[in-house]
Amino acid sequence: MLQAEKKQVDQERYRRQILIDGWGVETQEKLQDSKVFILGAGGLGCPVALNLTSAGIGNITICDADSVELSNLNRQFLHVEKNIGVDKTTSAVQFLSSFNSAVNFTTITDKVTVDNVNEMVGDADIILDCVDNFPARYALNQCAIEKQIPLVHAAVWGMEGRVTFLKPPATPCLSCLFPVAPQKEVIPIVGVVACATGSLQAMEAIQYLCGNHQSLQGQMLIMDYSSMRFQTLEISRNPDCPVCEQLR
Ligand SMILES: [Zn+2]
Repeated sequence: MLQAEKKQVDQERYRRQILIDGWGVETQEKLQDSKVFILGAGGLGCPVALNLTSAGIGNITICDADSVELSNLNRQFLHVEKNIGVDKTTSAVQFLSSFNSAVNFTTITDKVTVDNVNEMVGDADIILDCVDNFPARYALNQCAIEKQIPLVHAAVWGMEGRVTFLKPPATPCLSCLFPVAPQKEVIPIVGVVACATGSLQAMEAIQYLCGNHQSLQGQMLIMDYSSMRFQTLEISRNPDCPVCEQLR
């Protein structure tokens, strides 16, 4: 694209964030040129997608194979009652595109597998793991390692949330942290825990896309919402991890 045709940043829309120390129009342009891949339009995916859309990320792909159910509505804030039975991707983008029509949205209504993940992720600048099952997470992890794309992992359970930034070999990979998939169970969750955790996950992605230092590289942020205690734990690579060993 010729420089003259480049879309100008909407300085009025983003006025209040352009004012942030060290941000400016230049940083906003970086966000506008960014591509993100969000796996999951559920409890974490909704606040992640909303925060990235409102911040002005230019290109957002949302992937989810499920449709909206009544039991989703206590936490999945992009979906409304009239969309019960509708694909989550369609439902999410209906809301998001009415919120910020300048963002280019791509939807993928399919399950992620090791066979299709590379094509789905494409040339994204960052991957957001907002999914609740480990086969999909492992496929995403493998793709992130192969393509050397950073992955922001988050998870919620009850009154606890976790977020970390993964980009081996500087950090562990997901399989270093979870060599064996935990048993799949119905996750107890209240909306505010998913929303707060997903918002922190989005913040981590925005920081990376802005070109700022990674606050959670090599660290797991653990939020205990029942006591309002947040802590970060050092995390390190598993020397026997078969998934990221080629990066040693
Ligand atoms: Zn690993």
